[in-house]
Amino acid sequence: MNYGRLNADLIEELQSLLNIPVKYDEESLDRYSRDETAELKAVRPEVVTFPVSTEEVSEIMKFANRHLIPVTPRGAGTGLSGGAVPSYRGIVMSFEKMNRILEFDEANMMITVEPGVITGEIQKLADRHNLVYGGDPCSSESSSIGGNVAENAGGNKVMKYGPTGYHVYGLEVVLPSGEVTYFGGKRLKDVSGLDFVHLMVGSEGTLGIVTKITLRLLPKPKYSVALLVPYPDIDTAIAAVPGLMSGSGVVPTSLEFMDGSSIRAACSFLNIEFPYADAGAHLIIEVEGNSKDAVFDDYVKLGEAAIEAGGLEAFVADNRNTRDKLWKARKSIAEALAAISPVHSMEDVSVPMANIPKLINRSEEIAKKRGL
Ligand SMILES: Cc1cc2nc3c(=O)[nH]c(=O)nc-3n(C[C@H](O)[C@H](O)[C@H](O)COP(=O)(O)OP(=O)(O)OC[C@H]3O[C@@H](n4cnc5c(N)ncnc54)[C@H](O)[C@@H]3O)c2cc1C
Repeated sequence: MNYGRLNADLIEELQSLLNIPVKYDEESLDRYSRDETAELKAVRPEVVTFPVSTEEVSEIMKFANRHLIPVTPRGAGTGLSGGAVPSYRGIVMSFEKMNRILEFDEANMMITVEPGVITGEIQKLADRHNLVYGGDPCSSESSSIGGNVAENAGGNKVMKYGPTGYHVYGLEVVLPSGEVTYFGGKRLKDVSGLDFVHLMVGSEGTLGIVTKITLRLLPKPKYSVALLVPYPDIDTAIAAVPGLMSGSGVVPTSLEFMDGSSIRAACSFLNIEFPYADAGAHLIIEVEGNSKDAVFDDYVKLGEAAIEAGGLEAFVADNRNTRDKLWKARKSIAEALAAISPVHSMEDVSVPMANIPKLINRSEEIAKKRGL
């Protein structure tokens, strides 16, 4: 495809449609040329725009359509799939200025937001109302909800709450033509016709641009407890996982795996102590519920199953402070690795669970061979 290019006249025309000045200085073009994938994949856009309303998004799309200019939407740029990299140059459409919470509908347990809202803000607002927003990527303090929807981001609580798409009920979308359309809404049962909401979820901005998102909230469980279980090696930790659930009969809210070198990196980065920091791997297992006794029963069963499967001990974090510390370490791994090696490339990989030891062992072999 031969795309059009933005000359000075076109940039002026584009600017006349928008409230906030477009950017095309060297520093901005660099900044918006990449996400968190490898530096090598960076491509500079020709111009960066900051729409403040659906109308402006629509005007940009109509303009781009008229002149055949590629458009790449962008949330917070934390993506690991290169989705926000403007591979064909053209316009980067940043949502950092469309960051309002539009409605908090407690009666329907729904919240409607603009795409640039940082996910952690939604979690905190829900929490203040005794509700939960179930989407929880490790990047929740830095990624935007628009990016989460476009990537169908998963995260720590995916075992219980599922990925982002499970919580998305309604979308306002600007199509490539500039037309504004709506999919879904606040109805819990909305089953007639095609499910365009979930066609959009995970489409990485290729089908249209999301300008409003309605998310479902859930009641907040009263109690939660996290267990930290060190294992002598990765294979034992991974082999323990299927039996944890079938053996205990409990589906945890979270079940996270951390290999030894990652956890040691996080500890030195945060300057914290971690029990059994020299272990081969750790599992974090979290359970929630409304009855203290039921949660106690669940974590005792899980802890016993974890130890039976080779766990060295089961540490219990039953207050917010210790639980937060544990999760902080888990969520800091990427930053810790980046601090050790400023030149790095982060990739999301996915294999069937039983192949994780093979993946890690092989990665270590490659690292050794290449001197990484
Ligand atoms: C430290 C770290 C931890 C992470 N942890 C997780 C994790 O636990 N789980 C997980 O799934 N991912 C994780 N990620 C990856 C990343 O944070 C998620 O994919 C996140 O959803 C990206 O959001 P963003 O706002 O940064 O989007 P961006 O990177 O800016 O964009 C991502 C994609 O969304 C598109 N997009 C953005 N806004 C819109 C819009 N309004 N309409 C249409 N398309 C749009 C972009 O074009 C792009 O294709 C992590 C990344 C880092 C750096």
